[in-house]
Amino acid sequence: MELQLLDLKAQYETIKDEIKDAVINTIESGHYILGPEVKKLEEDIANYCGVKHGIGVANGTDALVLTLKAFGIGEGDEVITTPFTFFASAETVSQVGATPVFVDVDEKTYCIDENKIEEKITSKTKAIIAVHIFGQMCDMDRIMEIAEKHNLIVIEDACQAIGAEYKGKKAGSIGHAACFSFFPTKNLGGYGDGGMIVTNDDEVAQTIRMLRFHGSKIKYYHDMIGYNSRLDEIQAAILNVKFKHIDDWNNARKEKAHKYNELLANTKCVTPYEDEKCKHIYHLYILQHEEREELLRFLKDNGVATGIYYPVPLHLQNVYEYLGYKEGDLPVSEKLSKRTFAIPLYPEITLEQQEYVADLIRKFDNK
Ligand SMILES: *Cc1c(COP(=O)(O)O)cnc(C)c1O
Repeated sequence: MELQLLDLKAQYETIKDEIKDAVINTIESGHYILGPEVKKLEEDIANYCGVKHGIGVANGTDALVLTLKAFGIGEGDEVITTPFTFFASAETVSQVGATPVFVDVDEKTYCIDENKIEEKITSKTKAIIAVHIFGQMCDMDRIMEIAEKHNLIVIEDACQAIGAEYKGKKAGSIGHAACFSFFPTKNLGGYGDGGMIVTNDDEVAQTIRMLRFHGSKIKYYHDMIGYNSRLDEIQAAILNVKFKHIDDWNNARKEKAHKYNELLANTKCVTPYEDEKCKHIYHLYILQHEEREELLRFLKDNGVATGIYYPVPLHLQNVYEYLGYKEGDLPVSEKLSKRTFAIPLYPEITLEQQEYVADLIRKFDNK
């Protein structure tokens, strides 16, 4: 059996006709930049999250950059985030000229350890980027409380968490703003790049709308230096089709994750922890294993693709050497980076496929 980490074609098969219509209709409409499809997706996602504004942009990374800019974060500022995430969570802080400050993650949830935030706050700290990693939200009550006390902005990096919940509240509805990615592999993925910011802040929303469009409100009149960072109309049309299925797909991922938990019980794998306050949407199904490299080789030899999320914690990346972190500074992230990996999970995966993966892992453990 051959198994990919994510089978995008299996999903396409289920929505093929609708997608074809959406793409062709958009091409025939003659409206390619910031047209009705983008507007619809912005409104639908804002409503879904229960916030006032949705602003479509070119990708999740730009969503973070434009949000940081809109809050006036830049040179001389510090932004707290975690090292156990995709590079963009910190890269964007650097892009706007600020300095990322890394706080270790919780051993169970892999999200920021809220008990370690305050010791990293200085007079320069301006914001916290709370990364809802792998589809499970951070402890937002505690984070908002800390932010309020120290007068900080909270940006949710919800790129992996569209539809996730914390105490019944959707990802994107709690921080001052939140960023989504529609990269093809995300739970709501386009057939190309895409991203969105959601916020209740009218002024920030207005600024982001200008930033994505060369700093202009009225075409050819520029009030600030901006970007060309718009969500493509064709991608929005595709995403409007897919968005109707997001809850079903997220629920299917969750069900299948629970099935894996069952199938992998009594193996040497550490299965994902679900915080009872949260609805986990399983962007990735992450396991830990002592003999990761050997196990992954064994799975590969038997046709099962896997992925390592994330092999190098961000504070130890070459590019951040100048920040002066050393091994041992953020021990949980460092330990996880040596043990964690993802196995195939997507809404369309079959029980037979899941059993195949689980049987291989069991076989490896009993070798
Ligand atoms: C995917 C991702 C991003 C960046 O999104 P792109 O659309 O790829 O630019 C940022 N943060 C996290 C946590 C992500 O997973």
